[in-house]
Amino acid sequence: MKLSKALYFGDFVATPLAILILAAIALAGRDHGTAGVWLLAFLSGLGAWTFIEYAVHRWLYHRVPFFEKFHDAHHADPDGLIGAPSFFAIIVLLTVFFAPLLLLGFVIASGFGSGVLLGYMLYMLVHHASHHVLPKPGGLLYDARMRHMAHHYHAKPGNYGVITAFWDRVFSTSIRARTRVPGR
Ligand SMILES: [Zn+2]
Ligand SMILES: [Zn+2]
Repeated sequence: MKLSKALYFGDFVATPLAILILAAIALAGRDHGTAGVWLLAFLSGLGAWTFIEYAVHRWLYHRVPFFEKFHDAHHADPDGLIGAPSFFAIIVLLTVFFAPLLLLGFVIASGFGSGVLLGYMLYMLVHHASHHVLPKPGGLLYDARMRHMAHHYHAKPGNYGVITAFWDRVFSTSIRARTRVPGR
């Protein structure tokens, strides 16, 4: 979906805000033990995000016609400000990865939900940068850009992961980046 600048970049503000609010409510006035539990849940959420990112991109965006329609718009106009409307993704992520975890207590739900949200935020940043920034060779961002450009321009489908190549390796969907990055 083509978005206005405010909606497209809104996530870059709304996501850290949501993480801060969740963390503050869970951790205000609590002891170190609680903070440790929160941190563990947070790291688990961040790790879980890398798989969510892979799974959603591979099995929803590139397979289910309803989602494909929206994602095709990004493939047709890779540099356009296209994505899920701001706040919508945050609400969906919290509904799926925060609300059910409340059964395990607010601290765990807050930590895990915040980790997932941070992963989402990193995905948004790395994906945006992959299309709009030309990093110097050798860095992580350069690798991410090369990987993602191969996803867009390689004849063979693959490289569904954006912030990490890990799940592409696990599921054998890694494709070699082109040696020359196409112009913006
Ligand atoms: Zn894609
Ligand atoms: Zn892209």
